[in-house]
Amino acid sequence: MSQQLEDASFLTSKLDEAIGWARKYSIFQYPFVTACCGMEYMAAACSHYDFDRFGAGLPRFSPRQADVLFVVGTISHKMAPVLLRIYEQMADPKWVVAFGVCTCTGGFYDNYATVMGIDTIMPVDIYIPGCPPRPEYVLDGLMKLQEKIQAQHSKAGQQKA
Ligand code: SF4
Repeated sequence: MSQQLEDASFLTSKLDEAIGWARKYSIFQYPFVTACCGMEYMAAACSHYDFDRFGAGLPRFSPRQADVLFVVGTISHKMAPVLLRIYEQMADPKWVVAFGVCTCTGGFYDNYATVMGIDTIMPVDIYIPGCPPRPEYVLDGLMKLQEKIQAQHSKAGQQKA
């Protein structure tokens, strides 16, 4: 009986790892682009740097079809409720990437109108600093996100075992 349980937990943990692997290479991102960082975002997504290599080449413009929210550019307090609404409309599991220093911390906008980092209004999984971030930073952030997605599945598998 215990051997059967061991076999079953081995299979479920391997299945969970396989789901993590599949999920990290099928990222459907929702780009919420507000400011100058958008140019660098587009440069990173185009053929030279090629998001497609990471399985993240197909943006979705409906939050219900997306699992990664890319927040790109300055977020004002007036815009924050819209961003939060989009985040809430995404189904679980979902992840958030803060792209550029304005999104991460407010950047040099130290004023009444700007959100001082989107992690004040929603959980953030990956921070990509820079003004704007270089494409290499963006790809590094994307790979860190993939590691995080895979690790979540591996941990779940270990807990079940
Ligand atoms: S981080 Fe720099 S490039 Fe990006 S939105 Fe802010 S000011 Fe623009």
